[in-house]
Amino acid sequence: MPIVSFVFEPSAQPVAKVLGGGDFPVRRIFCIGKNYADHVREMGGDPKSDPPVFFTKPADAVVGTGTIVSYPQGTSNLHYEGELVIALKAGGRDLKTREEAGALIFGQAAGCDLTRRDLQGAAKKAGGPWDAAKGFDNSAPLGLIARIEDFPPDLFDDARLILKVNGVEKQNASLRDMIWTVPEIIIALSGLFELKAGDLIFTGTPDGVGPLSREDQVEVTIGVLPPLEFAIG
Ligand code: MN
Repeated sequence: MPIVSFVFEPSAQPVAKVLGGGDFPVRRIFCIGKNYADHVREMGGDPKSDPPVFFTKPADAVVGTGTIVSYPQGTSNLHYEGELVIALKAGGRDLKTREEAGALIFGQAAGCDLTRRDLQGAAKKAGGPWDAAKGFDNSAPLGLIARIEDFPPDLFDDARLILKVNGVEKQNASLRDMIWTVPEIIIALSGLFELKAGDLIFTGTPDGVGPLSREDQVEVTIGVLPPLEFAIG
């Protein structure tokens, strides 16, 4: 083994909390955009000619349920996007089947893809990258991860993703409305990146996205998954 001699103390390993105990070590955060047709339309696109896209957030963008997220710098139009999040316990590349994809899943959680919508709009207009719009500090609030053996996928056949701000419902959609299903997302991602244990996948948001202000309380529920709750500070 090579001798490692850090020139300063490395940053802590980012973790996400698991329902029932334990810490899930986060490696990468992959996100899918444009995965619900009604959301593509509300953003001014056409789901037929505008297929889902991938982007990423840094692993240390994860914050747990119960956090107060400071209103981020550099924006005056912070948006919520409620999303189902998949956590991987194993990796692979160039996967072909639903079974191969399903075997990678450790668990599932309710998440929120916080977005600096004004910066995203400017990036889209300029044909520039989305990093500043999507990959900022604390931009990935995440509820407790429920293990797949305790919360199997068929529990979610009729599940609805509901996001509330200050108790008022803003998003309410069936997971069936996803354009690419969870196995299809994993298969597509594995054709672009070698997936590994510790990866999180944000699977896209339905329609109803909107702005957040200081002191707003956000709640994301997805069927029987532990709810995600956070506030903007
Ligand atoms: Mn999103």
